[in-house]
Amino acid sequence: MDYKTKIQELKTYIKKATNIVIIPHHNPDGDAIGASLALKLIFQKTNKKAVVISPSKYPEFLHWLPDNDNVLIYPYKKNTIIKLIEKSDLIFYIDFNSLKRLESFEKDFLSINNNAKKILIDHHPNPQKIADLSFSDTSVSSTSELTYKILEDTELNTYINTNIAECLFTGIITDTGLLNYNSSNPQTFNIVSKLLEFNIDKQKIIDNVYNNFSENRMRLMGYCLNNKMQVLTKYNSAFIYLTIEELTKYKFKSGDAEGFVNLPLSIKNINFSAIFIEKTDYIKTSFRSKGNFPANVFAKKYFNGGGHLNAAGGKCFLNLDETIKKFKNSLIEFYANNFK
Ligand code: 5GP
Ligand code: MN
Repeated sequence: MDYKTKIQELKTYIKKATNIVIIPHHNPDGDAIGASLALKLIFQKTNKKAVVISPSKYPEFLHWLPDNDNVLIYPYKKNTIIKLIEKSDLIFYIDFNSLKRLESFEKDFLSINNNAKKILIDHHPNPQKIADLSFSDTSVSSTSELTYKILEDTELNTYINTNIAECLFTGIITDTGLLNYNSSNPQTFNIVSKLLEFNIDKQKIIDNVYNNFSENRMRLMGYCLNNKMQVLTKYNSAFIYLTIEELTKYKFKSGDAEGFVNLPLSIKNINFSAIFIEKTDYIKTSFRSKGNFPANVFAKKYFNGGGHLNAAGGKCFLNLDETIKKFKNSLIEFYANNFK
């Protein structure tokens, strides 16, 4: 189906819908939660019942977002969540390409009977066929950018107000590191410019997202750079690793390590970086790259994950030492196979 036909179908689905559920990926980031809240607020303005259901909690630096307090968080209020999904007639999958990205919510979600049409809006490569209509575009900076485009094309953009523009702006800036990476297409700046027309408080948003951390987080960042970063010059790579003990010492809160994985990429000639964070039952891994090093292929091949070319994540079920060993060996193998 071509894009125009899909937009027409979407308009029909929305017109018919009364109860709309919007679901971002597990541990939603600014893009996933920003696009979800924007859609919710749009639908609310068209007098529909809409709700955002997040598969998990998310960091505090996103809690200031408009309408954040009405997001339902799985598994809290599980019965309410089940009822809302049961009676929904339209469900949006936001910023993910596979139901696996719902993590612990996936099983419950799939067991809930509903007749809802499913709409996917996402920018990750290789989307699975999980929706009746898929808007999947890897060329955009973010799902929030794509959401803006879809709002324009369905003519729902007439409902955009300051709050909705703030949600979409947050999504775009968080997925591009303040329009740093993944944002060379003029469309991204055009849309940012249109969002600024809604009188959003750009400085407030940037302060809320980037200049709102605890002293502990800043000290943890310093500790990581000074003591916990290893540079693998031969492989133009570097990584950071943190144990639960260290996280406890720095009173770690969700979101405190946000962005740490990018730091080694500021070193000359480093084009691949990783962070390994010990959790109670696995090691959370994040990867970032510059240029054509496929972080997503690496994450999928060795760390049960995936993502974008330059930003990916995954999990490892070995202990931290073994995870690091596996990382180094994987890098050697990956280079031998791909970069000779
Ligand atoms: P982060 O490192 O910020 O957790 O994730 C970076 C990117 O990788 C995100 O775009 C996210 O969608 C993707 N990602 C993170 N963790 C996973 C994972 O476990 N599986 C898959 N398929 N993608 C992931
Ligand atoms: Mn995204």
